[in-house]
Amino acid sequence: MSETTRHSYDVVVIGAGGAGLRAAIEARQQGKKTAVLSKSLFGKAHTVMAEGGAAASLGNVNSSDNWQTHFRDTIRGGKFMNNPRMAELHAEESPQRILELEYWGALFDRTSDGRISQRNFGGHEYPRLAHVGDRTGLEMIRTLQQRVVQLQQLDAAEYGDPEAMLRVFSETTVTELLLEGEPGQEGSRIAGAFGYVRETGDLLVFEAPAVVLATGGIGRSFKVTSNSWEYTGDGHALALRAGATLLNMEFVQFHPTGMVWPPSVKGILVTESVRGDGGVLRNSEGRRFMFDYVPEVFRDQYAVTEEEADGWYADPANHHRPPELLPRDEVSRAINNEVKQGRGSPHGGVFLDVSTRLPSEEIMRRLPSMYHQFKELADVDITAGPMEVGPTCHYVMGGVEVDPDTGASKVPGLFAAGEVSGGMHGSNRLGGNSLSDLLVFGRRCGLGAASYLDGLGDERPAAETAVIDRLSGEAAAPFEREAGENPYQLQQEIQQTMNDLVGIIRRGSEIKQALESLEKLRERVAGVRAEGDTVYNPGWHLSLDLHNMLLVSEAVAKAALEREESRGGHTRDDFPQMSARWRRVNVVVSLQQGGVHLHHQPLDPLRPDLMELFDREELSKYLTEEELPPAERSDG
Ligand code: FAD
Repeated sequence: MSETTRHSYDVVVIGAGGAGLRAAIEARQQGKKTAVLSKSLFGKAHTVMAEGGAAASLGNVNSSDNWQTHFRDTIRGGKFMNNPRMAELHAEESPQRILELEYWGALFDRTSDGRISQRNFGGHEYPRLAHVGDRTGLEMIRTLQQRVVQLQQLDAAEYGDPEAMLRVFSETTVTELLLEGEPGQEGSRIAGAFGYVRETGDLLVFEAPAVVLATGGIGRSFKVTSNSWEYTGDGHALALRAGATLLNMEFVQFHPTGMVWPPSVKGILVTESVRGDGGVLRNSEGRRFMFDYVPEVFRDQYAVTEEEADGWYADPANHHRPPELLPRDEVSRAINNEVKQGRGSPHGGVFLDVSTRLPSEEIMRRLPSMYHQFKELADVDITAGPMEVGPTCHYVMGGVEVDPDTGASKVPGLFAAGEVSGGMHGSNRLGGNSLSDLLVFGRRCGLGAASYLDGLGDERPAAETAVIDRLSGEAAAPFEREAGENPYQLQQEIQQTMNDLVGIIRRGSEIKQALESLEKLRERVAGVRAEGDTVYNPGWHLSLDLHNMLLVSEAVAKAALEREESRGGHTRDDFPQMSARWRRVNVVVSLQQGGVHLHHQPLDPLRPDLMELFDREELSKYLTEEELPPAERSDG
């Protein structure tokens, strides 16, 4: 293999999606020399694929909206398992972050009086998603990149080098974090990151006292997914191996509407905006089946008749919301059940129809990407007929355990923001809450990393040379094995195992089966073989990613076996109810002697002032008796 090149930074941000870019911008604005690394091309991240919008209680379309209502919706969506401080910061700060994006040049769709327009989405009481048609993520990434360039231009003027203080390393994959000391041992702390350049195979060492993980999700470990190739859970695995902890990895979101046909595109996302803008779900009998699936906890908030549901679009103050706009976990389970009961569409989904609800020019205006996606990939005209849709693995609520205010993990110098972090969304994320989460906590992580550095003064932690030599050897190992299996075969088996045995509906016996399969796969992955050389070799890249996929899959499966209840993105057929006792438990994953270890940790309680945002009757559906506020006594 080639020589290892060394770079030295104050802050290294791994990931150039919304969270990574916002963190990097903040670290640079705080005067820290910052590098941003991305496994894919710069600009290609899940954030750019985001369609529907970013949730923030600007109150532009309905002035009744405020951060307290956003907080309440987020907690309801997460089934009261969210980290309350994160949900509070997110609801409070999202409007400022959206306005800041506008100030940096983002062009959102407008209301008729010229303010940022906002659209309806599942679980949000008011129209709340700032959007740009169904291409919101593209505008967000464009704006953040433009801000990066703007800062680089300032640096060019000041230092004579645009990359003096902020440099992007695209197509650069990190395979391990570097520590001073041993992972998990007292006093160990971040010293940098180790990786390779995808195009050339050259190895890189980044020396840095602060590292921000912003690597996104884990969806590629499941066969049917909206996630693209990069999402092999690298950040989750890097954090575990460095001695950090992960929270509640059992909570995986299956978005209700992915494409189901043709097979080559199965899983590609159909944005929730289709339902937000009036699209309805029907089964093969033509029945609008979501009315049959409104759970008890949401009974008072959703319409019971089609008439009432339809009236909501024009007059939300006097109607209840359509049940198609229930949180995603509810809609996914309903679709899954309809298909299982034999009432599915020809290709194993259900029908989603917006053509009977909006004129075709309005569909083309509001949902241009969806129109092209279906026309080009499935030869379906969504302005003239229904789409076939079904659940697809979309998002992981579980992630790195962080301090809500600073994004600091348990390992000094290691921070995490965005999808790779845990706690914010509880057991189920509301649509639109990720894009705002990235901005709020990306910025906070940048600030957190900067203030950590200020506390260090001039001393810089250093990784041992022997560790770097070992990592170089591990990177080269797949080429040196004479025998060994094809990485794509192994990847496919991991995906099939997770899809079939730890998917949308889970059973203890099946999860145990999955864990046995993963154990066998671990031995086979240890002997994986790559062919060719290190120059732009996706087979080699995958052979390195497989270790992360396996580790993260094991964490998800073990946590799913542990939690004996059904809540949000975790449905156990053998424990179908929500349990108030389990709600108080965070399942925490750590790595001990190389094995995935679980322990229970109490969930932070809701502060009394935040608890007051809910009425006692609603709280009693989730909380244990001892957590409930005292019942009000009547005087008469
Ligand atoms: P990402 O944007 O996923 O970026 C991760 C970055 O990390 C990438 O640059 C990647 O290359 C890099 N990376 C990963 N591993 C490594 C490694 N080992 N080394 C170096 N770099 C690495 N949410 C909403 O709120 N609203 C929406 O409308 C919406 N629509 C969506 C539509 C689709 C199709 C999808 C897939 C998701 C959607 N989401 C939406 C979810 C949301 O887009 C993601 O949760 C969010 O963008 C994640 O942002 P992030 O910054 O955490 O990570």
